Amino acid sequence: MKFKQTETTTQHLIELKNISKSYNLNKDNEFRALKGVDLIIDRGEFVAIMGPSGSGKSTLMNILGALDTPDRGTYTINGVDISKYTDDQLASFRNKDVGFVFQQFNLLPRINVRDNVLLPTLYGYVENKDEKLKEVLTKVGLLDKINNKSNQLSGGQIQRVAIARALIMNPSIIMADEPTGNLDTKTSQEIMNIFKNLNEEGNTIILVTHEEDIAAYANRKIRLKDGQII
Ligand code: ADP
Ligand code: MG
Repeated sequence: MKFKQTETTTQHLIELKNISKSYNLNKDNEFRALKGVDLIIDRGEFVAIMGPSGSGKSTLMNILGALDTPDRGTYTINGVDISKYTDDQLASFRNKDVGFVFQQFNLLPRINVRDNVLLPTLYGYVENKDEKLKEVLTKVGLLDKINNKSNQLSGGQIQRVAIARALIMNPSIIMADEPTGNLDTKTSQEIMNIFKNLNEEGNTIILVTHEEDIAAYANRKIRLKDGQII
């Protein structure tokens, strides 16, 4: 299941139809976070999902990454309805096809850069692991910090480690939810240039942000408001 841009199929990479999602607040009170979202994303795109806080961006991203399931609607990936995936296929999709980057970097503090980046390889096989490790750390400019622990890194460096970790399994889709939310402007620009380069290498990038200058790195913007695309 690899979805590089070079594939000749005319199927869309991702197609959401009428996706809805509610959260139960208590037994007779639910909140509708997504209300019938339709969305198509093609291979090689760099899409920014924008919208104010609470508009449903993270809910949508979690569904796109198969970290959560919608209440209604269909999600097809390469033409296959994801609800038909077996548990193994779902696990493989999350581990190999998608690389996740979050606002809270989610690194393990007590282990070094090398082991943090290699974490996903404990759950799935990657060829030439040591070379791949060097390659992804070089891409994010952190090869010289390979033995540092998280508390020996700056915020920007920590997010670079998280990006390297997202890349180690050779994903074709990178999903980033507010990846610069905890970073200063200059560091944010450096991180966004890494995503830009990854997109130019053929990766599909789906970025969630509420900041216009961050979304400007993408080639297409989608705006959410109150759980709907506007
Ligand atoms: P965004 O990422 O755009 O800020 P979210 O997708 O996180 O928005 O949340 C959309 C709405 O759903 C918000 O109003 C939020 O309070 C609500 N929400 C999110 N997660 C939950 C949850 N687990 N339980 C109840 N409400 C939630
Ligand atoms: Mg969010």
